Amino acid sequence: MAEDSIQYDEFGPEKVIQVSDRKTGMRGILVIDNTAKGPGKGGIRMTPTVTVDEVFRLARVMTWKTAMADLPFGGAKSGIISPAEVIKDKARKKEFIQAFSKAIKFVCPKLYIGAPDVNTGEEEMRWFVEANGSWKAATGKPADMCASPGKKCGIPHEYGSTGFGVYHSTIVAAEKLKLPLKGLTFAVEGFGNVGSFAAKYLTEAGAKLVAVSDSRGCIYNKDGIDFKSLEEVKKETGSVTNYKPGSVFSGPNLFEIEVDILIPAALPDSINKSNVENVKAKIIVEGANIPMTVEMEDILHRRGVLVVPDFVANAGGVISSYAEYRGKSPEEMFKLVEKKVRKNTKQTLILAKKKGIKPRDAAMQIVMERVRKAMAKRNSI
Ligand code: NAD
Repeated sequence: MAEDSIQYDEFGPEKVIQVSDRKTGMRGILVIDNTAKGPGKGGIRMTPTVTVDEVFRLARVMTWKTAMADLPFGGAKSGIISPAEVIKDKARKKEFIQAFSKAIKFVCPKLYIGAPDVNTGEEEMRWFVEANGSWKAATGKPADMCASPGKKCGIPHEYGSTGFGVYHSTIVAAEKLKLPLKGLTFAVEGFGNVGSFAAKYLTEAGAKLVAVSDSRGCIYNKDGIDFKSLEEVKKETGSVTNYKPGSVFSGPNLFEIEVDILIPAALPDSINKSNVENVKAKIIVEGANIPMTVEMEDILHRRGVLVVPDFVANAGGVISSYAEYRGKSPEEMFKLVEKKVRKNTKQTLILAKKKGIKPRDAAMQIVMERVRKAMAKRNSI
């Protein structure tokens, strides 16, 4: 594991922990990057290739994301090195998760709180929490997992908090450009958790969905795609490309379509050197994590495209985690996501305009200041 590639700086990481369990063969990594604002929050990733360096980089992103959402959480992330046969075998997967949970109990939930990530969902959170013994050890738990009967229950990611936040971030960005949302055209890359909910709320608000993609391709209809029929087609046939009427293109073409708003909500680097010059949108709201490099954002910024960065726009998931952690209901969670995502998007775009910088640079200034302030306060105690 390339541990020495970690760049230690003023923010962290505070703890880099590696654990193993001889009985199950589990090997796991936990990086607690910064806890100045509260316990480190971050998902539990299960892949065959997860490394200390990868976990550290993701933990740092969480430090910025929780600070942007202005939550009393810090940043962390964990990984369980899991061969494909373990991921596929429910019993072995459970053994790995429970062994990992027990091995990091000495810092969880005091300094680390888990959440779903690649190859982990609500059921895995149930196993993790059961092995830890504290209901607060992870968020994204199933709705039937309550701290006491009927009270403080799990809020699974499947409720769509991230897509709901992306929708609110889009409203704020459109307002900033003085564009009324009703009638604006938009395209969404990915029709999973984030993309489908963003598309649902935007169409309900009167924006016109003209293109959407999934792993099998992209469907386009300039007159608008009916969200409800699209949802049924995806459910029944497995792909949005079977929606009618419309033309089917290859996925990457989605980024070159004539639309007002683009929402990447699937893969990293989907806007890249090969298509950036052909992007026609006025607004891009990053639902996915790192859908483009900073260099691509620079190019678009110079052309006057408003790009709302990932850790501002897609913070709905972590805000939902906070609501769950504090025992709030799903209704209260949605209200909190709306309030926080709107406020943070506004603050970012106002600072960017005032200083003549890109929204990502403005957002970085905001979060660094928040974390530094919390660190100074902690040091003064
Ligand atoms: P998901 O697995 O639910 O959905 C992913 C979607 O992408 C699927 O519809 C899939 O068909 C589609 N896809 C796969 N390959 C594609 C391709 N080549 N072209 C177009 N679409 C393709 O995942 P998700 O939870 O919606 O996450 C999407 C992105 O959002 C990821 O970058 C994730 O890190 C980020 N994100 C998710 C959350 C969350 O709460 N779910 C929170 C923050 C960020």
